Amino acid sequence: MTSTLSRPAPVGRLVDQFEKGLDAPICLTWELTYACNLSCVHCLSSSGRRNPDELSTEQCKAVIDELQRMQVFYVNIGGGEPTVRSDFWELVDYATDHQVGVKFSTNGVKIDQKVAERLAASDYVDVQISIDGATAEVNDEVRGKGSFDMATRALQHLKDAGFKDAKISVVVTRHNVSQLDEFKALADKYGATLRITRLRPSGRGADVWDDLHPTQEQQRELYDWLVANGEGILTGDSFFHLSAFGEASGGGALPGLNLCGAGRVVCLIDPLGDVYACPFAIHEEFLAGNVLRDGGFKQVWQTSDLFLELREPQSAGACASCDFFDSCRGGCMAAKFFTGLPMDGPDPECVQGYGEQLLADRDNGVLPKSSVDQSRTGNRRKALPSIPLTVLVTQPPSRACDENPLAGMR
Ligand code: SF4
Ligand code: SF4
Repeated sequence: MTSTLSRPAPVGRLVDQFEKGLDAPICLTWELTYACNLSCVHCLSSSGRRNPDELSTEQCKAVIDELQRMQVFYVNIGGGEPTVRSDFWELVDYATDHQVGVKFSTNGVKIDQKVAERLAASDYVDVQISIDGATAEVNDEVRGKGSFDMATRALQHLKDAGFKDAKISVVVTRHNVSQLDEFKALADKYGATLRITRLRPSGRGADVWDDLHPTQEQQRELYDWLVANGEGILTGDSFFHLSAFGEASGGGALPGLNLCGAGRVVCLIDPLGDVYACPFAIHEEFLAGNVLRDGGFKQVWQTSDLFLELREPQSAGACASCDFFDSCRGGCMAAKFFTGLPMDGPDPECVQGYGEQLLADRDNGVLPKSSVDQSRTGNRRKALPSIPLTVLVTQPPSRACDENPLAGMR
């Protein structure tokens, strides 16, 4: 929740307020480092090597101080693999001591029994373990050999330590969409909650998107699964483009944030302090400023030209004539941008098939590339081997943007 919510209740729907932007982001992702022990083929931030210009401990603490003043009650910390920063736990403690709850994403590399016990003792830290296959075979193809065992070992440590409600975070791909029931069973086994997200063509994800993004039939399968099993599954803003499988009246909308919140309620602080409109939009086009050079995070969030522009009413463009626009809203800005499609046209995975038509006509030679690539030399892969398709912290951190940003709001 943000400071906006403590002001007199706005007239109209909250979602309309979100479109105009809030005083502070609801879904703030902060990537602490580009360093990572893995080299996942779809990494949205093309992580691998640490960048020597990453924010220092003191600079990170200054950002946390500012988040506290802005009443950003929780932050999603990621990377890279954030736990490989030597000051990671110091920063987590500093954040929670300053009324900023933490949810961090990890591949599990540092979650041993001792760490799990420490995490279980805090009410203000949430843990999200990334797994992209319900079996080692499917997972390790994307995340690297041994990564499934590492992630499930971390989950077991958390369970044994009594950590409540860890998250298992899955990027849905062509190869794991048939495993949704198995993912749910895996989450149940560890007393965790399943979170599923969309594969966006961002970072190294652009290299593998054509091969990995779910087919049109699989998107329907995914939509049907969410309609039947979605209660208690976290999806964030991942799948609102699938709502167009429902009724044109908007009756098929899935739970979650049904609009692109980039620069309005969502943003990213990268390891260098650069602020982007969205974690999936690491490109100069979506760079709003830098927390060190441009007067701090609050200044960037509240006054950058880019964010002010994104908070203006956006044109529906070619989607204006679509009966499903109210539920789908033309889909994801980042997915369109990195697949070379017009920003005011259909999503590349438009369920009406318009995106596929545009993709077939696009010029693959001039696709925009992410501004950042910290991939370790030789690890960036172009294609996959084919595998068969088969807080004022008086309360725990709000996780509203995981599921429904309206949750918990008056
Ligand atoms: S660009 Fe896509 S991923 Fe980013 S906030 Fe918008 S819908 Fe979400
Ligand atoms: S045409 Fe546009 S609004 Fe309609 S379903 Fe496709 S992406 Fe969504």
